[in-house]
Amino acid sequence: MKFEKIKDVIKKEEGQKAKIRGWIYRKRSSGKIIFIVIRDSTGIIQTIVEKEKISNEEFKKAEKALIESSVEIEGTVHEDKRAPGGKEIHVTKFNVVGFAQDFPITEYQSVEFLLDNRHLWIRSRKLTEVMKLKAKMLRIIRRWFDENDFYEVTPSVITTNAAEGGATVFSFDYFGQEAFLSQTAQMYLEALIFSLENVWCLTPSFRAEKSRTRRHLTEYWHLEAEEAWLNNEENMKLQEELISYVCQSIAKECKDELEFLGRDPKDLKIVEPPFKRIKYKDAIKMLNEKGFDIKWGDDFGAPHEKALVEGEEKPIFVTHFPVESKAFYMKISPDGKTVECADMLAPEGYGEIIGGSEREENIDSMIERLKKDGANIKNYEWYFDLRRYGSVPHSGFGLGIERLLCWIAKLEHIRDATPFPRLVRRAYP
Ligand code: ATP
Ligand code: MG
Repeated sequence: MKFEKIKDVIKKEEGQKAKIRGWIYRKRSSGKIIFIVIRDSTGIIQTIVEKEKISNEEFKKAEKALIESSVEIEGTVHEDKRAPGGKEIHVTKFNVVGFAQDFPITEYQSVEFLLDNRHLWIRSRKLTEVMKLKAKMLRIIRRWFDENDFYEVTPSVITTNAAEGGATVFSFDYFGQEAFLSQTAQMYLEALIFSLENVWCLTPSFRAEKSRTRRHLTEYWHLEAEEAWLNNEENMKLQEELISYVCQSIAKECKDELEFLGRDPKDLKIVEPPFKRIKYKDAIKMLNEKGFDIKWGDDFGAPHEKALVEGEEKPIFVTHFPVESKAFYMKISPDGKTVECADMLAPEGYGEIIGGSEREENIDSMIERLKKDGANIKNYEWYFDLRRYGSVPHSGFGLGIERLLCWIAKLEHIRDATPFPRLVRRAYP
């Protein structure tokens, strides 16, 4: 008999044989009977080990095996309404593959302790469900790009351009030359549209963000797309289609994970194009009316982003930010004061999930803005070449995978959207 997954054993009928392997999730004993809940990657099931039904040696092993020991079990399936999943296994064979020592994680532990023991804590059911949802979400995203004829590309994460500005960049010595861990692959994607036209990639991005918030990691998975011949409005259409597809698909395909995490699939089913668009200047007005002390040129913080989506059930776009507040590569609007950009804000106060823009084509304008930032123009020569040899209007966007997951999975903190979070004070384990 082959080993089976718990999700399949749960479907078996009364009296059928079962053979599973996994880890001890919970255990309690009353002398001659031991109740052991086993988990594998697909779920949990209760097993009952009775002294009279197995060999003495096996029973002793079952008694000795602590939580998180890895085990192999054979037995028969029985209905039991009280058991998780409604079924349990009456054990006829019990084998311990690896005895566990006293597991350090017990019920009430501090956040710091759990982060120190992250390599063990990722076995918890919540993180397991989050990671499953993330894997499925990535699969869905990839499907969307495939169906929409985008090429997936693989840019470098070692770079000599500090695209998003000096303060939040990690630098290191690259054989005697200063190099950076990439904050965005955007400039490389821009280079690739001249042959492939529609490209996307998924890479880690690095931000040396000193601000310790629930939404910032220092290393996160960045999904970026770039398309030739696309303006800012068309770029927003692309984004709302992608996000709606992801929400719809997750609502259909990830019911178990959503239920466990407390997200009602209905919240995701209503996410359909079009999303509301508001201009930065109107957003400032709106915030002033709500009592915020904020003026033209200021950046939005978490409370502002939360106030802007109050009463919204779908994400919204905030467009046309002031030139000075955005990166040098965003196209200046005809008014000369704003750029052709859009940030997508998730509902419920989860904040910015996408930043996108049409790209500037005028080299002089970019140089002027880069100089204001004190950047070394020489490093950008290759990028200006893209404007020199057959430039075309083009746009793109960057989406933080963990930010999107936070919203969809209703997570309180972005650290739980990734197995080994990198935070200002944490790069271990
Ligand atoms: P914020 O203002 O929220 O810090 P940003 O404007 O610096 O974000 P962008 O440079 O536009 O972010 O990056 C594109 C996307 O990457 C963001 O919309 C967000 O989803 C994600 N992102 C940015 N910084 C982080 C971070 N430190 N941790 C996780 N995700 C991030
Ligand atoms: Mg942004």
